[in-house]
Amino acid sequence: MKLISEITSLSKSFSWRWLLFSFLTMLFLMQCSPKTASQQAQALSVREPDIRVCIAENPREATLAFQGIYTAELEEARYIFDDGVGRMSVNLQDGRLVLSNENRFFELLPPQVVIFKPQMPKDQFILNDIPYQGELTIHFLDGEVTLINTIAMEGYLKGVLPYEIPTAREDYKEAVMAQAIAARSYAHYRLENPVNDLYDTWADERDQVYKGTDKTTPLAERAISETHGIVLADETGPMITQFHSTCGGVLEEYIGSDPSGFAFDLTDNEYNCKVSPHYRWVEFREVETVLWNLSREFDIDSSQVNSWIEAGYELVTEVTSRKSSGRVSEILLNIQGAEYRVDDFRIRRVLADKSGKILKSNFFFFRTSPANPEKFYIIGAGAGHGSGMCQWGAIGMALKGYSHNNILGLYYPQLSIKKVY
Ligand SMILES: [Zn+2]
Repeated sequence: MKLISEITSLSKSFSWRWLLFSFLTMLFLMQCSPKTASQQAQALSVREPDIRVCIAENPREATLAFQGIYTAELEEARYIFDDGVGRMSVNLQDGRLVLSNENRFFELLPPQVVIFKPQMPKDQFILNDIPYQGELTIHFLDGEVTLINTIAMEGYLKGVLPYEIPTAREDYKEAVMAQAIAARSYAHYRLENPVNDLYDTWADERDQVYKGTDKTTPLAERAISETHGIVLADETGPMITQFHSTCGGVLEEYIGSDPSGFAFDLTDNEYNCKVSPHYRWVEFREVETVLWNLSREFDIDSSQVNSWIEAGYELVTEVTSRKSSGRVSEILLNIQGAEYRVDDFRIRRVLADKSGKILKSNFFFFRTSPANPEKFYIIGAGAGHGSGMCQWGAIGMALKGYSHNNILGLYYPQLSIKKVY
């Protein structure tokens, strides 16, 4: 009642003639000053954008449940999906997509797009036991099923950050803030350069790992909220930001598009990522493991591999090329005269361990085992490709008292920090 009376009394104090004049003046000014492109861009960037994340493709045996209230328009009717629906299985059967349990049965035939919309921001859908907030879209087109989570950018980052950088310790905070800005920049770049028409980004290592929002940590949440809307940009807008676990002391520096330079990851005369568990390492490989890795990578017939193993063979490993940073760019493997040249990322797969885990980095040298010719050592540094931000280096800088702006300035000297909403 109080509010209404205030509005009533306020409107009485206006002169109607003055109001009409103001309105006409405003209309005139709007016609005289069309918006420039930059004004439009500013207006568009004020609101936090949504991002469309591909969370599953052609799921064979998926499960889906809801917490809170979701609604979806199917061809025949509008349905409510809430806790009472229970856990449904999602199966692709004979060209149909079936969502069912003992209570419900839905059959989707292509082409069909179904959007499950939350009624409240905290409502969640649970896909394969992972809770997600925001919308779920099922695209069923040309026999292909794609599940897409559409979520506001800041919510998306809560599902990214804990998978991209350690967030367990309070004194990592400035590094986690730097990572939040780098991850937000990457996601914004993806909005401008989406994977395809259906979605902007993958939810795995092809882009940034994203696994719903329930694994977020208090430190990740604070790092995101304290950097709200901030990205790294050049004059064209938010930029793709590369990052990796540990450089081992030497960063790859791209000069233009040419990866020919390097820089030391150094402050106060100390390597920043010295605190990393991957800073220096030694691993050994059995020769036969490498032989099988090589056979997969080069499609070598298994009968050939078995004949080498039965007859006895010699595998000679040699580093044939290094980048100026010191990272290995080519190795040569020679088995009984058969030569295999392996380059760049393939090197890490060919030197994977027995369980298939790829080699930590290309920053290594070989050492043979004089006592045991069946195996050899790989002595190395760092984990990951060495481009962009060294995440353990960022943690090292945070521990030395540097701010997130200092960290970003060291790893992305060509970019500047901008608030886009
Ligand atoms: Zn480093």
